[in-house]
Amino acid sequence: HTGDVKILLLENVNQTGRDILKGQGYQVEFLKTSLPEDQLIEKIRDVHVIGIRSKTKLTAKVLQEAKNLLVVGCFCIGTNQVDLDYAAKHGIAVFNSPFANSRSVAELVIAEIITLARQLGDRSNEMHRGTWNKVSAKCWEIRGKTLGIVGYGHIGSQLSVLAEAMGMSVIYYDILTLMAIGTAKQVPTLDALLQEADFVTLHVPETPETKNMISTKQFGQMKKGSYLINASRGTVVDIPALINAMRDGKVAGAALDVYPNEPAANGDYFNSNLNQWGEDLRGLSNIILTPHIGGSTEEAQRAIGVEVAEALVRYINQGVTLGSVNLPEIAMRALTLDEPEHARVIYIHRNVPGVLRKVNEILAEHNVDKQISDSKGDIAYLMADVSSVKTDDIKNIRDSLDSLNSRILTRILY
Ligand code: NAD
Repeated sequence: HTGDVKILLLENVNQTGRDILKGQGYQVEFLKTSLPEDQLIEKIRDVHVIGIRSKTKLTAKVLQEAKNLLVVGCFCIGTNQVDLDYAAKHGIAVFNSPFANSRSVAELVIAEIITLARQLGDRSNEMHRGTWNKVSAKCWEIRGKTLGIVGYGHIGSQLSVLAEAMGMSVIYYDILTLMAIGTAKQVPTLDALLQEADFVTLHVPETPETKNMISTKQFGQMKKGSYLINASRGTVVDIPALINAMRDGKVAGAALDVYPNEPAANGDYFNSNLNQWGEDLRGLSNIILTPHIGGSTEEAQRAIGVEVAEALVRYINQGVTLGSVNLPEIAMRALTLDEPEHARVIYIHRNVPGVLRKVNEILAEHNVDKQISDSKGDIAYLMADVSSVKTDDIKNIRDSLDSLNSRILTRILY
C-alpha cells in the first residue's frame, strides 16, 4: 500500500522531486543535510526508499543495516557514493539522473565559443584591473566558423542544434555512426575533425580510450589559432600539452570546466590539487577556467528532481527498472492494480542455471499474462504478470519463491 512506503530524503533534494513523492501518498521525511554515519544507520533501518545527493556515502556497512530498503535515488549525476555492487547483490535498485543537465552544458559551451572568439575574459579582467584596452585584432564572429564536436551524445547533439542556429557549420566525430541533426556532418576520424574545426569541443565519457585523447599529437593537427573547449571529463585533455599549444600560439583560446583532480568541496583549489599546473594555467591569456559548473543550473536541479522521483515511483509501484544503474533494465506496461485477481510478481535472484524452470513451476498453476527476465552480471530480474490469483495464491507464490536458494528478493504487487 502506497501509504505504508517510508521515504527518507537527505541533502535538500529538489522540491520537484519531493512533490512527486508526496503526491503518491508515501510517508516522506525530508532533511536539508546529509547525516553522519551513525545517525544514517539509525534512520536507514526503517525506510524503504532513500534519496541522496553526492555527500551521503551508502557503503556496504550502512546498507547492511537497511533491512527494508528497496531502492536508492541519487538525485545527481554520479553514483560513486553508493556501493552499487553490494546494493545489487541485496536486491536494492539504484537510480540516478545522467542526462537532466545536458542542455545546461550545451548552453555553457555556446557562451564559451563567443567568449573565446571575442577574448571577453581577458577584456573583462583588464577592466577589473582598471585598464581600457580596445582590441579587434584576432577577435572573430562565430558565424561561418566550423565547430568540431567530439562525442555526439546527449550534450554534443544538443550543442549541434544551437551552434547551427548561430550560423556555424558543425562536424562531429563519434565511435558510433550517428544520425546527423540539421546539416551537421559526421567525419570518419578524430584527425579529420581536428584538421577542419575552428573550435573543438569535447563531449565524450571518461574511458580508457578517451584518456589524454587530446595531447601533443592532436594539438599538432589542429588549425593554427583554433580553440579548445573541455566540459566533459578532466582526463580527456593532457593539460601540459594544452599549456604548450597555447604558449606556441597554436591554440588561441581554451575553456576548461573539468580537471584531472577535482576537490570535494568549495575553497582553495590551485594551491592543492592542481598545484603542478595551476600557475601555468592562470598565466595564460584567453583561457576560461570554471569549477565544473557545466550542469549547474536551477533548471537542471529541477529536472533531476523530476527524473529521479519518477523513476522511484515507477520502481515502487510497478517494479519497472528502466534507468537503474545496477539492475537489469526491464519495463512492462503499467499494472492496473484495481483489477481483481491480478498480481505482478517480481523476483530478483542470483543469475545461476535452472532458476527459470523452478520459477515457472511455481507460476504454472496460474495464468501468466506476460513474463520478462534479464540479467546483468551476477544478478537477474524477473517480472511476471499473473491473473486468476487469490490472496492465498499470492501468499503461496511468495513463500515458494522465497524458499528457492537463488532468491535475493521477492516482491508481489497486487
Ligand atoms: P553521452 O553518453 O550521451 O554521449 C557520449 C558520446 O561519446 C556517445 O555518443 C559515445 O558514442 C561517444 N564516445 C564514447 N567514446 C568515444 C570515443 N572514444 N571517441 C569518440 N566518441 C566517443 O554523454 P553526455 O551526456 O553527452 O556527456 C558527455 C560528457 O560530458 C561526459 O563525460 C559527461 O560526464 C560530461 N558531463 C559534464 C558535465 C559538466 O558539468 N561539465 C555535465 C554533464 C555531463
